[in-house]
Amino acid sequence: MNLEEAAKLSHSDWQQRAIELKKAAETRLFINGEFVDAIEGGTFDNVCPVDGSVINTCAAGAQADIDKAVAVAKESFKSGDWSRMAPRDRMAVMYKWAALIEENGAELALMDTIDMGKPISDMVGVDIPMCVETIQYFSECIDKITGSITATEYDVMSTVIREPIGVVGCISPWNYPLLMALWKIAPSLAAGNSTILKPAEQSPLSSYRAAQLFVEAGGPPGALQVVNGMGEQAGQALARHMDVSKISFTGSTEVGKLIHVYSGESNMKKVSLECGGKGPQVFCEDLEGELLDRAVETAINGIFFNMGQVCSAGSRLIVHSKIYDAFVEKFIAMGKDAYTCGDPLDPAVNLGPLVDHQSQSRVLGMVETAQAEGGTVEFGGEAAGGALEKGAYVVPTMITGVTENDTIARFEAFGPVVAVIKVDSDEEAIEVANNSIYGLQGSVWTDNYRRAMRFVREIECGTFLVNSFEEGDMTQPFGGYKQSGNAKDKCFESVLSYTNTKAAWFRLD
Ligand code: NAP
Ligand code: MG
Repeated sequence: MNLEEAAKLSHSDWQQRAIELKKAAETRLFINGEFVDAIEGGTFDNVCPVDGSVINTCAAGAQADIDKAVAVAKESFKSGDWSRMAPRDRMAVMYKWAALIEENGAELALMDTIDMGKPISDMVGVDIPMCVETIQYFSECIDKITGSITATEYDVMSTVIREPIGVVGCISPWNYPLLMALWKIAPSLAAGNSTILKPAEQSPLSSYRAAQLFVEAGGPPGALQVVNGMGEQAGQALARHMDVSKISFTGSTEVGKLIHVYSGESNMKKVSLECGGKGPQVFCEDLEGELLDRAVETAINGIFFNMGQVCSAGSRLIVHSKIYDAFVEKFIAMGKDAYTCGDPLDPAVNLGPLVDHQSQSRVLGMVETAQAEGGTVEFGGEAAGGALEKGAYVVPTMITGVTENDTIARFEAFGPVVAVIKVDSDEEAIEVANNSIYGLQGSVWTDNYRRAMRFVREIECGTFLVNSFEEGDMTQPFGGYKQSGNAKDKCFESVLSYTNTKAAWFRLD
């Protein structure tokens, strides 16, 4: 079912479909175009965060499965079935793939919702349309990848050719399961690489289905394979593999650092990392009226959307003392009930559970620590009760009176928890914003563009927004400074990062 039809389904329609899908979804490894069990027979339970029930049992890939997939990918790359396909033909496959993702949008949306608890309306309205756009965008890039001819003496032609890298391993997180996987695999495929995905173990279903659709669209089976398994086993085996030439990783900073180690200890494969964030949003003293209202409303969505499980979430609000009281009052009035926990299969619900119960305990623990360190919980700070008690829910939470060195201001909560810090000047706001190991996304809200430009220049992050947050399109490079990573997703630069340049020097005389 496509997205337009999916948008009309009711809560009970989705519930019925979920029952069927849990039985039917493929949970085995997708290697060489076929679903297969793990060689050593490993499995694990895929747990539903809504009630802790077991959705299904997934194959747990390990070293032997990664070896098998890499051998297939290497052979495919060598054969040229994808790597040497004419650009327009490769584009045709990718466009068809995007169309199939759209046609199967309802099923793919439901897969991520049952796996990690994201509201179905977000899947249908945001994630899947962005997945389609991602594949389309990178398809369009394929015949725009060019090399160059450099300046030389008369009897020499010096060319720079761009080539695919070879076997590329992608490792993705669970917070936007299919979208984050596609931000890696779509540019990698567009550049002609044989690509292997290790999805987050909590949410593998949609990437298995998407890979199957790639083959249905005419993609060679060795060009895209999916091997799920535990990070420490399947993920590590991929990142240490001697025949993998690049690893593209999205996940925590902690694991990102390990990927560098694996590369260094194996074959020095290229490493691109998209890691954590602690997004600062600065609200200047001149804010008032309609702009202040818009700033507060945007800040609410910037932290509570996707249950706060967003690397670029605006989790640190840095507010000038002149407007602090008005800002906090408005945030409480507008934000307290803007997001309500419920069954993510209900299209009216905008807040599902966190990905698992471990995350729930971690986030609630961080709220306790914030209070112990002097913060005030203005609302939230607890699990959802009643019928939702068994789920991994945390209600939207606002903590004020936070100072820049408090735990909640320094560490990613990865939950619907916002920390508010009061400052007395622009200088102090910049200093606080930059007091972080992270540098992914930030913003400033002000009516004064000269002031805004100062923040643009002085805040250390890869993406910065003025009077806006969480906006952007496929042309916009997305990636961090500092320990938020070293790569750019989306954008043309991303496809180029999945190529090598070769200097070819022709002596003509
Ligand atoms: P994570 O625990 O770091 O896991 C990310 C991926 O790495 C998963 O597939 C995981 O597999 C795998 N992994 C874990 N340990 C590994 C190891 N030793 N070797 C190789 N792979 C390993 O992150 P997460 O909890 O899934 O996702 C949340 C994090 O992602 C947050 O920090 C968030 O900020 C970040 N994120 C960043 C961006 C960005 O673009 N900058 C976007 C989205 C999310 P398992 O699931 O099996 O452990
Ligand atoms: Mg994980």
